[in-house]
Amino acid sequence: MDIRVGNGYDVHQLADGLRLVIGGVEIEHSKGCVAHSDGDVAIHALCDAILGALALGDIGKHFPDTSSEFKGIDSKLLLKRVMELVWERGYTLGNADITIAAQKPKMAPHIIKMREVLSDIMKVDLDRVSVKATTTEKLGFVGREEGIEVWASVIVLKK
Ligand code: MG
Repeated sequence: MDIRVGNGYDVHQLADGLRLVIGGVEIEHSKGCVAHSDGDVAIHALCDAILGALALGDIGKHFPDTSSEFKGIDSKLLLKRVMELVWERGYTLGNADITIAAQKPKMAPHIIKMREVLSDIMKVDLDRVSVKATTTEKLGFVGREEGIEVWASVIVLKK
């Protein structure tokens, strides 16, 4: 069995009046992520982890933010494209574990929906996709609600 591990990290700045989309779920909030795409910081970290596992570069290489093709794009489509690269090479996702650091809003009510959306796109059972969230106890840029950061780890495997 060929087992690959990958990790990903992303940060987006928060600004008033923008949509907030995290883990494929739109969340009601006064602020949203500043981005070329829909700013789904969790999916971006997840894509980077998957690409990293197969040494395929990073999300910026595959979906450049200078390209009008990706302006405002639904990041779920980016994750689907990344998974196609995985499947084309005969791999599947073993599991994914995502940690979201956000001071506000509360992620807990949205986590099950995020896991459902992400596991559906990646074609794996729900129990292979973990999403966790934490505040930073009001410390740093996350604590000041200036941004949200996300870490993702994945295993990709070929039987
Ligand atoms: Mg990003």
